[in-house]
Amino acid sequence: MPTSPPIKAARGVRDILPAERAGYAVVERAAQEVARRFGYQEVELPIIEPVELIERGLGSDSDAGGKELYRLEPHGDSDGDAPARLVLRPEGTAGMVRAYFQGGLNQGPQPVRLFTLGPMFRHDKPQHLRYRQFYQFDVEVIGDPSPAYDVEVIELTWGWIEGMGIGHVSLELNSIGDFNCRPQYLRLLQDYYRPLKDRLHSDCQRRLEQNPLRLLDCKDEQCQPFKAAAPRITDHLCTACAAAFEKVKSLLDAAGLEYRLNPYLVRGLDYYTRTVFELQHQSLGGAQNSLGGGGRYDALAAALGFPDTPGVGFAGGIDRVAYMLQHELGSIKAAPAAHVLVLPMTEDLEQAAAQVGRVCRSAAPTAVDYSARSLRAKMRAADRSGARWAVIMNSEEADRRVAQLRDLLSGDQREVAWDALPSAITKGGGED
Ligand code: AMP
Repeated sequence: MPTSPPIKAARGVRDILPAERAGYAVVERAAQEVARRFGYQEVELPIIEPVELIERGLGSDSDAGGKELYRLEPHGDSDGDAPARLVLRPEGTAGMVRAYFQGGLNQGPQPVRLFTLGPMFRHDKPQHLRYRQFYQFDVEVIGDPSPAYDVEVIELTWGWIEGMGIGHVSLELNSIGDFNCRPQYLRLLQDYYRPLKDRLHSDCQRRLEQNPLRLLDCKDEQCQPFKAAAPRITDHLCTACAAAFEKVKSLLDAAGLEYRLNPYLVRGLDYYTRTVFELQHQSLGGAQNSLGGGGRYDALAAALGFPDTPGVGFAGGIDRVAYMLQHELGSIKAAPAAHVLVLPMTEDLEQAAAQVGRVCRSAAPTAVDYSARSLRAKMRAADRSGARWAVIMNSEEADRRVAQLRDLLSGDQREVAWDALPSAITKGGGED
């Protein structure tokens, strides 16, 4: 008798079960393929990172680097080192830059093109398509400041989305300047917003002093009327940033990539410089409409204590892209668990059924039904499972090393020697 309620997953995280996992696999494969086509190499990085890496990379007053950060209890090691303060990574770029230096990739030919796929963690308010554990496709080009790499990353990410047949996506583009021109602009922005302070919502009142750029991407109704007249950073870029922005636009034009200049597009992350971009899906609701975003982060490496090194990258939301595929295009069906089901009629056939299973697996995914239920019950389960073939076994036939191969689509059934099962399955319609 259970004495306590059954245990459920933690709030804000979810199980991705087979019906959904198939869609994720399509999205991940598309990501790997497009990244490799552009000459990017895959890496796998730790999910736990030192807290300093994230705090210095994102700024501890940012959401992802501050209140949303999952902090682990410090664990001491037996060698007497002070317990490390670790967090679950909220994003991939800081870890990628760390790995680039720690692994000596900065010593080889530059720039270095890398990508990774994996989970990120943010203690955000759970909502539709906003989870506390979610999955990202991260692409980074580290070691060269040319705006041509910004456009390469955009083209790659556009190819990822477009290649899967997802439409109604717009590419939003902006430049947020750099450490030369942004401080002056931020003062202008504060001068504009200060007289309006009482009419802003509480988060924006705080942003006005701590992170004024974020005033521009506030989604709250109350703050919208003030945006239109706010100064735009693209009118206040220094010469170098303005030239880089022009280059990005002209290369996007040459690539035939349409974009929408969006003066309100900023990144919540402090280390971004110059180009910022986002892929927005028109049918996804409000704050969850972003399929992915990225930009240049020339100030990040130095902020982490490494030599000044430019970089540009993109993070795509796999959960949201998989959702779009499944719900908008409805194109992905989970493969049946097994294509062939081996159904022994009696329990003494376990060993023979296992052997037949082994033989069939050379042709198609095969499972054996070892349960004690009747053949009728096994057949019903086989029909429901979506398998194409049943291999029905009785003792007399097993002694002769033959079995009944039944086509679950047509209902046709015939005797087949065990050794001939793989070719019969393949010829009659092997794996789809
Ligand atoms: P960011 O790292 O915040 O720029 O996010 C990049 C992309 O990751 C977004 O465009 C989303 O598609 C996805 N993403 C970010 N946060 C979440 C979340 N909490 N749940 C699901 N997807 C997310």
